[in-house]
Amino acid sequence: MLSSNLGYPRIGPNRELKWILESYWSKKINQETLFKEISNIKKNNWIKQKNAGLNIIPSNDFSLYDHVLDLCLTTNAIPERFKKLKKNNPLDLYFAMARGFQNGKLDIKAMEMTKWFDTNYHYIVPEFKPNQKFNLYFSKIIDEFLEAKNFGIITRPVILGPISFLHLGKTTSKFDKFTLLKKLLPVYKRIFSLLKKFGADWIQVDEPVLSLDLEKKIHSKFISAYNFIRKDSPSILLTSYFSSSLTNFNLLKKINVSGIHLDLVNTKAKDLTKIIRKFPKNKVLSAGIINGRNIWKNDLLNSINIIKKIKKKIPDDKLIISTSCSLLHSPVDLSKEDKIDRNIKDWLAFSDQKIKEVVFLRNFFNSSFLKNSHFLTKNIISIKNRTKSKLIHNTKVKKRIKSISSKLLKRNNNYFLRKLIQSDLNLPLFPTTTIGSFPQTKEVRKYRLDFKKKIINAKKYEAFLKNETKKAIKFQEAIDIDVMVHGEFERNDMVEYFGEQLEGFIFTKYGWVQSYGSRCVKPPIIFGDISRKNSMTVYWSKYAQSLTKKIVKGMLTGPVTILQWSFVRDDQAREITCKQIALSLLDEVLDLEKNGLKIIQIDEPALREGLPLNKNEWNSYLKWAIDSFKIASSSVKDETQIHTHMCYCEFDDILDSIEKLDADVISIETSRSNMELLDSFKNYKYPNSIGPGVYDIHSPRVPSFKEMKLLLEKAQKYLDKDKIWVNPDCGLKTRGWKEVKKSLKLMTSVAKSLR
Ligand code: GLN
Ligand code: ZN
Repeated sequence: MLSSNLGYPRIGPNRELKWILESYWSKKINQETLFKEISNIKKNNWIKQKNAGLNIIPSNDFSLYDHVLDLCLTTNAIPERFKKLKKNNPLDLYFAMARGFQNGKLDIKAMEMTKWFDTNYHYIVPEFKPNQKFNLYFSKIIDEFLEAKNFGIITRPVILGPISFLHLGKTTSKFDKFTLLKKLLPVYKRIFSLLKKFGADWIQVDEPVLSLDLEKKIHSKFISAYNFIRKDSPSILLTSYFSSSLTNFNLLKKINVSGIHLDLVNTKAKDLTKIIRKFPKNKVLSAGIINGRNIWKNDLLNSINIIKKIKKKIPDDKLIISTSCSLLHSPVDLSKEDKIDRNIKDWLAFSDQKIKEVVFLRNFFNSSFLKNSHFLTKNIISIKNRTKSKLIHNTKVKKRIKSISSKLLKRNNNYFLRKLIQSDLNLPLFPTTTIGSFPQTKEVRKYRLDFKKKIINAKKYEAFLKNETKKAIKFQEAIDIDVMVHGEFERNDMVEYFGEQLEGFIFTKYGWVQSYGSRCVKPPIIFGDISRKNSMTVYWSKYAQSLTKKIVKGMLTGPVTILQWSFVRDDQAREITCKQIALSLLDEVLDLEKNGLKIIQIDEPALREGLPLNKNEWNSYLKWAIDSFKIASSSVKDETQIHTHMCYCEFDDILDSIEKLDADVISIETSRSNMELLDSFKNYKYPNSIGPGVYDIHSPRVPSFKEMKLLLEKAQKYLDKDKIWVNPDCGLKTRGWKEVKKSLKLMTSVAKSLR
């Protein structure tokens, strides 16, 4: 039996990757220094894993920006518009593909980026054209294998498989991208034979699309592709992860490879029994037992029992204990966290700790000395402490969850009546508003940091925030916006701000995970039952409202988004955790209402991204996700107008769920796609009011009067005039005041011209 890891975090224990990349981009270091520093990160990662006692260590899991982008370069799938840069330095070509390129007249758009399955990691989307050619253009995978070999480590190189590579890409025109497979496979074959020549025994080929519902026609592609590339190759370990191993298991069994990795974390116990029974005799099983994408300590006794079950059918020399997926999605090292509650810290495991767990499980079965090991005893105690801890369980919250009735999920009256009642708000036709945040300038961030570091006191910080809020209100009054916002200057992040004020959350100091390129996020950890101690937003909303006669919207982050952007406890259903957040938000909503806020917005940008990978699980997710929003929003008076906001994705396939939220108004991102979303309203009548974003806030560009007007005219074709709101497509916190002022001024004048 062996131990392995599918991938190690790239960012380094102190986000070294981020600092190195950003220094290079801002020309503070040269390429030579960059490579030297990067090589150190890789070396440390390998040595760390080796010293931990791991048998199989990955290489080529590292990437300077993204592993899918690496593969585009490796196979020469470089979009036409970058070809001009091929003469340049290859590194700059690589970064241009990721981030775009501007130099004088030359302005090349970056490749698109999108979410990696249901994680918060983003990959670069390959672009394929009909006459696409592939050849081995970039030898990174081979270089990295040799680099590790130089340190005396024979690694198992990782590569994204050919079917997933094509599947995840987009095409420049309409054609079946799988027709390109024939041309792509020789590149894989060439890489594999080179790796074999240089001494690789195994290669890990990731095919995460095996976690999706696949069309039948792809099955035969899998079979023939692997028949072709396995000749003259190191032994292939084919991996699937992120959903139950039962998904596509029948296909997996038939693919001609030497080993199969399965995600056992997402596999139900009864399904595991089936899988072990049918597992092909001649193949190695890599059992993904340690969760690669959470932060919780593994229940080792439970894992030991699972392995015992597996061992009944699979011989020791065909079994590998592994992480369920790459550790890319887990922070690096827990040991540095010196500020979190010691009890809670004892329940956690980051990547380095997870590797120790993998190694332990393997050793446990290979040596009789470990039956009573200290590591195991300590683990048993931690797991027990966590189950029983008073920190986690709050009887009041549990009771409240049980008492949720259908009444809590419904407004008093339907939208038609509410709209009449809400006419007291006295809003004009095409009311204007924004999504919530105003620019988080350098100054705002500096004040927050200084306050955090205790360089300035609370009084000074608050005075500053008040002044910013006041300026924002003054500005909105000056351009005559109908529904105002306070500007969110007091918020660092839309989830963290709430997490910090709720019971059941903790925050780490170093718990960073990569989001894309040099960007990392530090999700809060939900460890226990959630409740609200005090009001969270009333102070600022009320203050803003006191400055103006116009209506100010209260501004909250919705339950699904808070859940989705946190590390969530694994000892109860996500549904329950989400509803606990919803109940806390309900208290806040009622508090805002009591304090005179007539409109309250509850943002749910992550509603769509929470959708499970497999369609058969969509309905149950959507049910509790929508119910959670309704719990938070439905108990207000009919006079109180509820808004919601969504962005970052296509909504076409969940429009009916959005309707079920029954928000009075939804503002939604559409402008980047030229209001393509509106086309879905041709056949589908959205009953409530809607603010289709009239301009894209993701670039500093100021939209023209004409283009906003055209968009709103298009909107009127599909939506009732008296139900259209006018707003940008997302919050303005990443923008500068200069362009915000110009854009919003134009926006209000467009609305006026339409009235
Ligand atoms: N109210 C938030 C803001 O304006 C919404 C952010 C979002 O949609 N991601 O910043
Ligand atoms: Zn948004």
